[in-house]
Amino acid sequence: MRGDPVLRVFRCNLHVHTCLSPCGDLDMHPGAIVEEAVLKGLDVIGVSDHNASENVGFVMNAARGKPLTVIPGMEVTTREEVHVLVLLEDLPTLSLLQQYVYDRLEGLNNEEVFGLQPIVTEDGDVEGFNQRLLIGATTIPLEELVEKVHGLGGLAIPAHIDRPGFGVIGQLGFVPPGVPFDALEVSWRLGIRGGREKYPELSGYPFITSSDAHFIDDIAKACTPMMLSEPTLPEIRRALKGEGGRFVMEDAC
Ligand SMILES: [Zn+2]
Ligand SMILES: [Zn+2]
Repeated sequence: MRGDPVLRVFRCNLHVHTCLSPCGDLDMHPGAIVEEAVLKGLDVIGVSDHNASENVGFVMNAARGKPLTVIPGMEVTTREEVHVLVLLEDLPTLSLLQQYVYDRLEGLNNEEVFGLQPIVTEDGDVEGFNQRLLIGATTIPLEELVEKVHGLGGLAIPAHIDRPGFGVIGQLGFVPPGVPFDALEVSWRLGIRGGREKYPELSGYPFITSSDAHFIDDIAKACTPMMLSEPTLPEIRRALKGEGGRFVMEDAC
């Protein structure tokens, strides 16, 4: 007899950078990220480098056979300089988003000013360096990005909304009400409870918190526990919507 799926708590940190991000520590290579996440008992991580994704597949490879699920993602900088955490179902879909982003991102990196952008395999081999200006803003309007991500079946979540720099409120002054964001992310310093107190007017949105880790020690600094049947993007979407018994636990991780 087939019963309802068994739900359990998954500890999700959906916003983690790798060394590919110019501001990411060089120690943030795929193997080290996975090792630390497993060690600290995370169940799910989202890999989200600034406007880039070349290391995502390697983090997924590093997690193979380990009790950790890697959700492919990217932290896209919109034309308004708003950081948006994008989560997608698989690598082919991520590569479609990547092409769209690169077509709308100008400039070359200055390694001495912004840092190196190495592409590193799960074995720690450096495959090359991304030469684009990943720290820059794309020409993609916020609303268009959300539409594009939804067209790809993904989730679009304004990142660290409480931070003055690159948060949607800091950049625009408010969360544009007509844009169908899937959730809002508050930084780990504020946490979800703090976010609820600070932004009562945003009570209609699901909140998540993440570590936004750029350094190994920060990977498990925060996470969002979610009640899911399995660690997949569709299940995370259902939790954000509060469907079918899935939900986001707003307690500390
Ligand atoms: Zn950011
Ligand atoms: Zn980030």
